[in-house]
Amino acid sequence: MARRPTKELLIAAEGEPIRYADGRLSVPDFPIIPFVEGDGVGPDIWRAARRVMDKAVDKSYGTDRHICWTQVYAGEQSLAFFNEWIPQETFDAIRRFRVAIKGPLTTPVGGGFRSANVTLRQVLDLYACVRPVCWVPGVPCPVRQPEKLDVVVFRENTEDVYAGIEFASGSPEADKLAAFLRSELGQTIREGSAIGIKPISRYATQRLMRMAVEYALERRRHSITLMHKGNIMKYTEGAFKEWGYELAAAEYPALTVTEHQVLEEHGGQMPPGRILIKDRIADAMFQQVLLRPEEYSVIVTPNLNGDYISDALAAQVGGIGIAPGANIGDGIALFEATHGSAPKYAGQDKVNPSSLILSGRMMLEYMGWKEAADLILKGLKSAIAQKIVTYDLERQMEGATLVKCSEFAQAVVDCM
Ligand code: NAP
Repeated sequence: MARRPTKELLIAAEGEPIRYADGRLSVPDFPIIPFVEGDGVGPDIWRAARRVMDKAVDKSYGTDRHICWTQVYAGEQSLAFFNEWIPQETFDAIRRFRVAIKGPLTTPVGGGFRSANVTLRQVLDLYACVRPVCWVPGVPCPVRQPEKLDVVVFRENTEDVYAGIEFASGSPEADKLAAFLRSELGQTIREGSAIGIKPISRYATQRLMRMAVEYALERRRHSITLMHKGNIMKYTEGAFKEWGYELAAAEYPALTVTEHQVLEEHGGQMPPGRILIKDRIADAMFQQVLLRPEEYSVIVTPNLNGDYISDALAAQVGGIGIAPGANIGDGIALFEATHGSAPKYAGQDKVNPSSLILSGRMMLEYMGWKEAADLILKGLKSAIAQKIVTYDLERQMEGATLVKCSEFAQAVVDCM
Protein backbone atom coordinates (compact mmCIF):
# COMPACT_ATOMS: atom_id res chain seq x y z
CA MET A 1 0.00 0.00 0.00
CA ALA A 2 1.40 3.41 -0.96
CA ARG A 3 1.81 6.08 1.69
CA ARG A 4 -0.71 8.85 1.35
CA PRO A 5 1.33 11.95 0.35
CA THR A 6 0.61 14.14 3.37
CA LYS A 7 1.71 17.75 3.42
CA GLU A 8 4.45 16.82 5.89
CA LEU A 9 5.77 14.16 3.52
CA LEU A 10 5.81 16.58 0.62
CA ILE A 11 7.51 19.31 2.58
CA ALA A 12 10.04 16.74 3.80
CA ALA A 13 11.14 16.10 0.20
CA GLU A 14 14.48 17.78 -0.35
CA GLY A 15 14.25 20.88 -2.48
CA GLU A 16 12.16 24.04 -2.54
CA PRO A 17 8.83 25.03 -4.03
CA ILE A 18 8.66 27.09 -7.20
CA ARG A 19 7.26 30.52 -6.30
CA TYR A 20 5.08 32.97 -8.19
CA ALA A 21 4.83 36.72 -7.61
CA ASP A 22 3.99 39.74 -9.79
CA GLY A 23 3.13 37.49 -12.71
CA ARG A 24 6.53 35.77 -12.71
CA LEU A 25 7.71 32.32 -11.72
CA SER A 26 10.77 32.03 -9.57
CA VAL A 27 12.37 28.62 -9.98
CA PRO A 28 14.94 27.44 -7.43
CA ASP A 29 17.84 25.22 -8.51
CA PHE A 30 16.31 22.25 -6.69
CA PRO A 31 12.57 22.60 -7.32
CA ILE A 32 10.07 20.12 -5.91
CA ILE A 33 7.89 18.85 -8.75
CA PRO A 34 4.91 16.57 -8.15
CA PHE A 35 4.20 13.84 -10.69
CA VAL A 36 1.28 11.50 -11.32
CA GLU A 37 2.42 8.27 -13.02
CA GLY A 38 -0.98 7.74 -14.60
CA ASP A 39 -2.98 4.62 -15.46
CA GLY A 40 -2.45 1.86 -18.01
CA VAL A 41 0.80 2.61 -19.84
CA GLY A 42 1.39 5.58 -17.49
CA PRO A 43 4.07 3.93 -15.30
CA ASP A 44 6.02 2.73 -18.40
CA ILE A 45 6.07 6.10 -20.11
CA TRP A 46 6.66 7.94 -16.83
CA ARG A 47 9.82 5.92 -16.08
CA ALA A 48 11.06 6.62 -19.61
CA ALA A 49 10.25 10.35 -19.53
CA ARG A 50 11.71 10.87 -16.06
CA ARG A 51 14.97 9.24 -17.12
CA VAL A 52 15.21 11.56 -20.14
CA MET A 53 14.38 14.70 -18.11
CA ASP A 54 16.83 13.84 -15.33
CA LYS A 55 19.61 13.13 -17.81
CA ALA A 56 18.95 16.36 -19.73
CA VAL A 57 19.11 18.40 -16.52
CA ASP A 58 22.20 16.54 -15.41
CA LYS A 59 23.99 17.06 -18.73
CA SER A 60 23.01 20.74 -18.87
CA TYR A 61 23.71 21.84 -15.31
CA GLY A 62 25.75 19.10 -13.58
CA THR A 63 25.24 19.26 -9.84
CA ASP A 64 23.99 22.88 -9.91
CA ARG A 65 20.40 21.91 -10.70
CA HIS A 66 18.22 18.92 -10.02
CA ILE A 67 14.50 18.16 -9.96
CA CYS A 68 13.22 16.80 -6.64
CA TRP A 69 10.33 14.62 -7.81
CA THR A 70 7.51 13.87 -5.43
CA GLN A 71 4.79 11.37 -6.28
CA VAL A 72 1.12 12.28 -5.98
CA TYR A 73 -1.86 10.18 -6.96
CA ALA A 74 -4.88 10.34 -9.25
CA GLY A 75 -6.97 7.91 -11.29
CA GLU A 76 -7.06 4.15 -10.83
CA GLN A 77 -3.99 4.00 -8.58
CA SER A 78 -5.55 6.57 -6.27
CA LEU A 79 -8.88 4.75 -6.30
CA ALA A 80 -7.16 1.52 -5.29
CA PHE A 81 -5.09 3.14 -2.54
CA PHE A 82 -7.42 5.79 -1.16
CA ASN A 83 -10.84 5.08 -2.64
CA GLU A 84 -10.87 8.51 -4.31
CA TRP A 85 -10.21 9.49 -7.93
CA ILE A 86 -8.22 12.56 -6.94
CA PRO A 87 -7.36 13.03 -3.28
CA GLN A 88 -7.37 16.56 -1.91
CA GLU A 89 -3.61 16.22 -1.28
CA THR A 90 -3.01 16.02 -5.02
CA PHE A 91 -4.80 19.31 -5.65
CA ASP A 92 -2.97 20.85 -2.67
CA ALA A 93 0.44 19.66 -3.89
CA ILE A 94 -0.03 20.97 -7.45
CA ARG A 95 -1.27 24.31 -6.09
CA ARG A 96 1.61 24.59 -3.66
CA PHE A 97 4.43 23.47 -5.95
CA ARG A 98 2.95 25.17 -9.06
CA VAL A 99 4.49 22.98 -11.76
CA ALA A 100 3.52 19.31 -12.11
CA ILE A 101 3.46 16.56 -14.73
CA LYS A 102 1.17 13.61 -15.27
CA GLY A 103 0.70 10.47 -17.32
CA PRO A 104 -2.69 9.59 -18.85
CA LEU A 105 -5.67 8.80 -16.63
CA THR A 106 -8.42 6.34 -17.46
CA THR A 107 -12.00 7.62 -17.48
CA PRO A 108 -14.38 4.71 -16.76
CA VAL A 109 -17.09 4.44 -19.39
CA GLY A 110 -20.61 4.85 -18.02
CA GLY A 111 -22.58 7.29 -15.97
CA GLY A 112 -21.46 9.05 -12.83
CA PHE A 113 -17.76 9.48 -13.66
CA ARG A 114 -16.36 12.89 -14.44
CA SER A 115 -13.03 12.70 -16.23
CA ALA A 116 -10.16 13.15 -13.76
CA ASN A 117 -8.38 15.17 -16.44
CA VAL A 118 -11.27 17.62 -16.79
CA THR A 119 -11.65 17.82 -13.00
CA LEU A 120 -7.97 18.70 -12.54
CA ARG A 121 -8.21 21.43 -15.17
CA GLN A 122 -11.36 22.94 -13.71
CA VAL A 123 -10.56 22.71 -10.01
CA LEU A 124 -7.06 24.14 -10.47
CA ASP A 125 -8.36 26.75 -12.96
CA LEU A 126 -5.82 25.65 -15.58
CA TYR A 127 -7.61 27.75 -18.15
CA ALA A 128 -5.40 27.26 -21.20
CA CYS A 129 -4.72 23.93 -22.88
CA VAL A 130 -1.52 24.61 -24.78
CA ARG A 131 -0.56 22.20 -27.57
CA PRO A 132 2.47 22.95 -29.76
CA VAL A 133 2.39 21.01 -33.03
CA CYS A 134 5.30 20.67 -35.42
CA TRP A 135 6.82 17.83 -37.37
CA VAL A 136 9.70 15.76 -36.07
CA PRO A 137 11.74 14.84 -39.18
CA GLY A 138 11.42 11.15 -39.99
CA VAL A 139 7.99 10.67 -38.44
CA PRO A 140 5.67 9.14 -41.07
CA CYS A 141 2.77 11.44 -41.84
CA PRO A 142 -0.07 11.90 -44.34
CA VAL A 143 0.89 15.27 -45.90
CA ARG A 144 3.59 16.09 -48.46
CA GLN A 145 5.24 19.02 -46.68
CA PRO A 146 4.79 18.47 -42.96
CA GLU A 147 7.68 20.83 -42.17
CA LYS A 148 5.45 23.78 -43.11
CA LEU A 149 3.30 23.32 -40.02
CA ASP A 150 4.51 24.93 -36.82
CA VAL A 151 1.61 26.07 -34.65
CA VAL A 152 0.70 26.36 -31.01
CA VAL A 153 -2.95 25.94 -30.06
CA PHE A 154 -4.34 27.82 -27.04
CA ARG A 155 -7.61 26.10 -26.24
CA GLU A 156 -9.93 27.58 -23.60
CA ASN A 157 -10.25 24.94 -20.90
CA THR A 158 -13.01 26.01 -18.52
CA GLU A 159 -16.10 27.03 -20.52
CA ASP A 160 -18.10 26.22 -23.64
CA VAL A 161 -20.09 22.97 -23.88
CA TYR A 162 -17.37 21.38 -21.72
CA ALA A 163 -18.63 23.28 -18.66
CA GLY A 164 -20.70 20.18 -17.92
CA ILE A 165 -24.09 21.95 -17.88
CA GLU A 166 -26.17 19.30 -19.64
CA PHE A 167 -29.57 17.82 -18.95
CA ALA A 168 -30.74 14.43 -20.21
CA SER A 169 -33.72 14.02 -22.50
CA GLY A 170 -36.87 13.52 -20.44
CA SER A 171 -35.25 14.74 -17.20
CA PRO A 172 -37.25 17.20 -15.05
CA GLU A 173 -34.39 19.72 -15.47
CA ALA A 174 -34.45 19.55 -19.28
CA ASP A 175 -38.26 19.78 -19.33
CA LYS A 176 -38.22 22.74 -16.94
CA LEU A 177 -35.58 24.56 -18.97
CA ALA A 178 -37.41 23.87 -22.23
CA ALA A 179 -40.66 25.18 -20.74
CA PHE A 180 -38.88 28.34 -19.60
CA LEU A 181 -37.27 28.88 -23.01
CA ARG A 182 -40.63 28.45 -24.74
CA SER A 183 -42.76 30.55 -22.41
CA GLU A 184 -40.32 33.29 -21.37
CA LEU A 185 -38.02 33.60 -24.36
CA GLY A 186 -40.28 32.48 -27.21
CA GLN A 187 -37.93 29.71 -28.37
CA THR A 188 -38.98 26.57 -30.18
CA ILE A 189 -37.68 23.42 -28.50
CA ARG A 190 -38.87 19.92 -29.41
CA GLU A 191 -40.56 17.87 -26.70
CA GLY A 192 -38.12 15.53 -24.97
CA SER A 193 -35.01 17.38 -26.13
CA ALA A 194 -31.76 16.98 -24.23
CA ILE A 195 -30.25 20.41 -23.49
CA GLY A 196 -26.65 21.54 -23.11
CA ILE A 197 -25.49 25.05 -22.25
CA LYS A 198 -22.56 26.86 -23.89
CA PRO A 199 -21.26 29.62 -21.63
CA ILE A 200 -18.49 31.86 -23.05
CA SER A 201 -17.38 34.89 -21.03
CA ARG A 202 -15.31 37.98 -21.78
CA TYR A 203 -13.23 37.23 -18.67
CA ALA A 204 -12.22 33.70 -19.71
CA THR A 205 -11.71 34.67 -23.35
CA GLN A 206 -9.50 37.62 -22.56
CA ARG A 207 -7.27 35.90 -20.03
CA LEU A 208 -6.65 33.16 -22.62
CA MET A 209 -5.93 35.73 -25.32
CA ARG A 210 -3.57 37.59 -22.98
CA MET A 211 -1.62 34.41 -22.33
CA ALA A 212 -1.42 33.73 -26.08
CA VAL A 213 -0.22 37.27 -26.89
CA GLU A 214 2.43 37.09 -24.17
CA TYR A 215 3.54 33.73 -25.53
CA ALA A 216 3.66 35.02 -29.10
CA LEU A 217 5.67 38.07 -28.05
CA GLU A 218 8.16 36.03 -26.08
CA ARG A 219 8.63 33.44 -28.84
CA ARG A 220 8.49 35.94 -31.72
CA ARG A 221 5.54 34.17 -33.32
CA HIS A 222 4.26 36.03 -36.39
CA SER A 223 0.49 35.80 -35.93
CA ILE A 224 -2.43 34.87 -33.72
CA THR A 225 -5.61 33.49 -35.28
CA LEU A 226 -8.91 33.53 -33.41
CA MET A 227 -10.69 30.36 -34.58
CA HIS A 228 -14.45 30.52 -34.04
CA LYS A 229 -17.86 29.66 -35.41
CA GLY A 230 -19.21 33.16 -34.90
CA ASN A 231 -21.13 33.18 -38.18
CA ILE A 232 -23.58 30.74 -36.58
CA MET A 233 -23.15 31.20 -32.81
CA LYS A 234 -22.95 34.98 -32.82
CA TYR A 235 -23.25 35.68 -29.10
CA THR A 236 -20.88 32.96 -27.91
CA GLU A 237 -18.25 32.20 -30.57
CA GLY A 238 -18.79 35.55 -32.27
CA ALA A 239 -18.25 37.32 -28.98
CA PHE A 240 -15.14 35.19 -28.38
CA LYS A 241 -13.67 36.64 -31.58
CA GLU A 242 -14.64 40.23 -30.68
CA TRP A 243 -13.27 39.95 -27.15
CA GLY A 244 -10.02 38.54 -28.52
CA TYR A 245 -9.51 41.51 -30.83
CA GLU A 246 -10.60 43.89 -28.06
CA LEU A 247 -7.95 42.56 -25.67
CA ALA A 248 -5.15 42.86 -28.23
CA ALA A 249 -6.17 46.43 -29.11
CA ALA A 250 -6.59 47.55 -25.51
CA GLU A 251 -3.49 45.98 -23.96
CA TYR A 252 -1.02 45.59 -26.85
CA PRO A 253 -1.83 48.41 -29.31
CA ALA A 254 1.79 49.03 -30.29
CA LEU A 255 2.73 45.37 -30.53
CA THR A 256 -0.18 43.94 -32.51
CA VAL A 257 -1.95 44.79 -35.74
CA THR A 258 -5.10 43.40 -37.37
CA GLU A 259 -5.44 42.34 -41.01
CA HIS A 260 -7.84 45.25 -41.48
CA GLN A 261 -5.25 47.72 -40.12
CA VAL A 262 -2.54 46.26 -42.35
CA LEU A 263 -4.69 47.03 -45.39
CA GLU A 264 -6.16 50.35 -44.29
CA GLU A 265 -3.29 51.94 -42.36
CA HIS A 266 -0.10 50.27 -43.61
CA GLY A 267 -0.68 50.00 -47.34
CA GLY A 268 -0.92 46.22 -47.22
CA GLN A 269 2.57 45.88 -45.71
CA MET A 270 2.97 44.18 -42.37
CA PRO A 271 4.63 46.69 -39.96
CA PRO A 272 7.83 45.10 -38.60
CA GLY A 273 7.97 43.72 -35.08
CA ARG A 274 4.22 43.37 -34.63
CA ILE A 275 2.05 40.30 -34.27
CA LEU A 276 -0.72 39.96 -36.84
CA ILE A 277 -4.13 39.32 -35.22
CA LYS A 278 -6.64 37.63 -37.50
CA ASP A 279 -9.67 35.39 -37.27
CA ARG A 280 -10.95 32.44 -39.23
CA ILE A 281 -14.20 30.52 -39.14
CA ALA A 282 -13.65 27.06 -37.67
CA ASP A 283 -14.61 24.98 -40.71
CA ALA A 284 -12.43 27.08 -43.02
CA MET A 285 -9.60 26.75 -40.52
CA PHE A 286 -9.47 22.97 -41.01
CA GLN A 287 -8.86 23.57 -44.73
CA GLN A 288 -6.42 26.40 -44.15
CA VAL A 289 -4.09 24.40 -41.92
CA LEU A 290 -3.87 21.74 -44.63
CA LEU A 291 -3.56 24.06 -47.63
CA ARG A 292 -1.63 27.04 -46.21
CA PRO A 293 -0.11 25.83 -42.94
CA GLU A 294 2.73 28.36 -42.98
CA GLU A 295 0.23 31.22 -42.54
CA TYR A 296 -0.70 30.07 -39.03
CA SER A 297 1.42 30.32 -35.94
CA VAL A 298 -0.69 30.65 -32.78
CA ILE A 299 -4.36 29.61 -32.71
CA VAL A 300 -6.68 30.82 -29.93
CA THR A 301 -10.02 29.07 -29.73
CA PRO A 302 -12.91 27.98 -27.49
CA ASN A 303 -12.90 24.59 -25.84
CA LEU A 304 -14.68 22.35 -28.36
CA ASN A 305 -13.00 23.77 -31.49
CA GLY A 306 -9.70 23.44 -29.66
CA ASP A 307 -10.28 19.80 -28.88
CA TYR A 308 -10.92 19.01 -32.55
CA ILE A 309 -8.21 21.15 -34.14
CA SER A 310 -5.47 20.01 -31.69
CA ASP A 311 -5.85 16.36 -32.69
CA ALA A 312 -6.35 17.14 -36.39
CA LEU A 313 -3.12 19.17 -36.42
CA ALA A 314 -1.21 16.48 -34.54
CA ALA A 315 -2.44 13.84 -37.03
CA GLN A 316 -1.37 16.07 -39.94
CA VAL A 317 2.27 15.73 -38.88
CA GLY A 318 1.95 12.08 -37.82
CA GLY A 319 2.26 13.06 -34.21
CA ILE A 320 -1.00 11.98 -32.62
CA GLY A 321 0.90 9.55 -30.37
CA ILE A 322 3.81 11.92 -29.68
CA ALA A 323 2.13 15.34 -29.32
CA PRO A 324 2.89 17.13 -26.04
CA GLY A 325 0.51 19.30 -24.05
CA ALA A 326 0.07 21.41 -20.96
CA ASN A 327 -2.78 22.89 -18.97
CA ILE A 328 -1.75 26.30 -17.73
CA GLY A 329 -3.29 28.85 -15.37
CA ASP A 330 -1.82 31.92 -13.67
CA GLY A 331 1.43 30.71 -12.11
CA ILE A 332 0.37 27.07 -12.18
CA ALA A 333 0.87 24.44 -14.86
CA LEU A 334 0.21 20.75 -15.32
CA PHE A 335 2.07 19.08 -18.20
CA GLU A 336 0.67 15.84 -19.59
CA ALA A 337 0.82 13.09 -22.19
CA THR A 338 -1.97 13.90 -24.62
CA HIS A 339 -2.84 10.30 -25.55
CA GLY A 340 -4.88 8.04 -23.29
CA SER A 341 -3.88 5.21 -20.95
CA ALA A 342 -3.93 2.52 -23.72
CA PRO A 343 -4.74 -0.18 -21.11
CA LYS A 344 -4.15 -3.11 -23.46
CA TYR A 345 -0.43 -2.25 -23.52
CA ALA A 346 -0.09 -1.63 -19.76
CA GLY A 347 3.10 -3.00 -18.23
CA GLN A 348 4.51 -4.24 -21.55
CA ASP A 349 7.26 -1.61 -21.84
CA LYS A 350 6.08 -1.21 -25.42
CA VAL A 351 4.42 2.12 -26.21
CA ASN A 352 5.96 5.35 -27.40
CA PRO A 353 6.93 7.64 -24.50
CA SER A 354 7.51 10.69 -26.77
CA SER A 355 4.34 12.54 -25.79
CA LEU A 356 5.32 12.62 -22.12
CA ILE A 357 9.00 13.22 -22.96
CA LEU A 358 8.06 16.25 -25.09
CA SER A 359 5.64 17.46 -22.41
CA GLY A 360 8.59 17.26 -20.02
CA ARG A 361 10.54 19.38 -22.49
CA MET A 362 7.70 21.95 -22.45
CA MET A 363 7.82 21.89 -18.65
CA LEU A 364 11.55 22.62 -18.57
CA GLU A 365 11.03 25.45 -21.05
CA TYR A 366 8.22 26.87 -18.88
CA MET A 367 10.63 26.77 -15.91
CA GLY A 368 13.25 28.65 -17.93
CA TRP A 369 15.60 25.64 -18.10
CA LYS A 370 16.06 26.11 -21.82
CA GLU A 371 19.35 24.23 -22.21
CA ALA A 372 17.86 21.03 -20.82
CA ALA A 373 14.69 21.51 -22.88
CA ASP A 374 16.73 21.92 -26.08
CA LEU A 375 18.80 18.85 -25.27
CA ILE A 376 15.67 16.70 -25.00
CA LEU A 377 14.45 17.81 -28.43
CA LYS A 378 17.88 17.21 -29.90
CA GLY A 379 18.04 13.69 -28.44
CA LEU A 380 14.53 12.78 -29.54
CA LYS A 381 14.94 14.13 -33.07
CA SER A 382 18.24 12.35 -33.47
CA ALA A 383 16.88 8.98 -32.21
CA ILE A 384 13.97 9.19 -34.66
CA ALA A 385 16.25 10.33 -37.50
CA GLN A 386 18.29 7.16 -36.86
CA LYS A 387 15.02 5.21 -37.12
CA ILE A 388 15.26 3.91 -33.56
CA VAL A 389 11.55 3.83 -32.73
CA THR A 390 8.77 2.07 -30.84
CA TYR A 391 6.20 -0.23 -32.51
CA ASP A 392 3.76 2.53 -33.51
CA LEU A 393 6.31 4.27 -35.76
CA GLU A 394 8.27 1.15 -36.71
CA ARG A 395 5.24 -0.38 -38.44
CA GLN A 396 5.07 2.65 -40.73
CA MET A 397 8.79 3.10 -41.45
CA GLU A 398 11.06 1.14 -43.72
CA GLY A 399 14.31 -0.17 -42.26
CA ALA A 400 13.54 1.01 -38.72
CA THR A 401 14.90 -0.59 -35.54
CA LEU A 402 12.10 -1.62 -33.20
CA VAL A 403 12.81 -0.82 -29.55
CA LYS A 404 10.88 -0.97 -26.29
CA CYS A 405 9.63 2.10 -24.46
CA SER A 406 12.59 2.08 -22.03
CA GLU A 407 15.08 1.42 -24.86
CA PHE A 408 13.73 4.41 -26.78
CA ALA A 409 14.33 6.58 -23.70
CA GLN A 410 17.89 5.26 -23.56
CA ALA A 411 18.36 6.05 -27.26
CA VAL A 412 17.15 9.64 -26.65
CA VAL A 413 19.62 9.98 -23.76
CA ASP A 414 22.45 8.54 -25.89
CA CYS A 415 21.66 11.04 -28.66
CA MET A 416 21.63 14.16 -26.45
P1 NAP B 1 -5.64 5.76 -26.04
O1 NAP B 1 -5.34 5.30 -24.68
O2 NAP B 1 -4.95 7.00 -26.48
O3 NAP B 1 -5.27 4.55 -27.03
C1 NAP B 1 -5.79 4.40 -28.31
C2 NAP B 1 -4.73 3.83 -29.24
O4 NAP B 1 -3.78 4.86 -29.53
C3 NAP B 1 -3.88 2.70 -28.67
O5 NAP B 1 -4.54 1.45 -28.74
C4 NAP B 1 -2.68 2.80 -29.56
O6 NAP B 1 -3.03 2.38 -30.89
C5 NAP B 1 -2.49 4.31 -29.66
N1 NAP B 1 -1.64 4.85 -28.61
C6 NAP B 1 -2.00 5.59 -27.52
N2 NAP B 1 -0.93 5.94 -26.81
C7 NAP B 1 0.14 5.46 -27.45
C8 NAP B 1 1.54 5.52 -27.22
N3 NAP B 1 2.07 6.15 -26.16
N4 NAP B 1 2.35 4.88 -28.07
C9 NAP B 1 1.87 4.24 -29.14
N5 NAP B 1 0.55 4.15 -29.42
C10 NAP B 1 -0.30 4.76 -28.61
O7 NAP B 1 -7.19 6.01 -26.26
P2 NAP B 1 -8.45 5.20 -25.70
O8 NAP B 1 -8.18 3.72 -25.79
O9 NAP B 1 -9.60 5.78 -26.38
O10 NAP B 1 -8.53 5.60 -24.17
C11 NAP B 1 -8.07 4.81 -23.08
C12 NAP B 1 -8.36 5.56 -21.78
O11 NAP B 1 -7.57 6.76 -21.72
C13 NAP B 1 -9.82 6.00 -21.63
O12 NAP B 1 -10.21 5.76 -20.31
C14 NAP B 1 -9.77 7.49 -21.92
O13 NAP B 1 -10.77 8.19 -21.24
C15 NAP B 1 -8.41 7.86 -21.38
N6 NAP B 1 -7.82 9.10 -21.96
C16 NAP B 1 -7.05 9.85 -21.15
C17 NAP B 1 -6.42 10.98 -21.64
C18 NAP B 1 -5.55 11.80 -20.71
O14 NAP B 1 -5.26 11.36 -19.62
N7 NAP B 1 -5.09 12.98 -21.12
C19 NAP B 1 -6.57 11.35 -22.98
C20 NAP B 1 -7.34 10.53 -23.82
C21 NAP B 1 -7.96 9.39 -23.28
P3 NAP B 1 -2.68 0.94 -31.53
O15 NAP B 1 -3.31 -0.11 -30.66
O16 NAP B 1 -3.28 1.02 -32.89
O17 NAP B 1 -1.21 0.78 -31.59
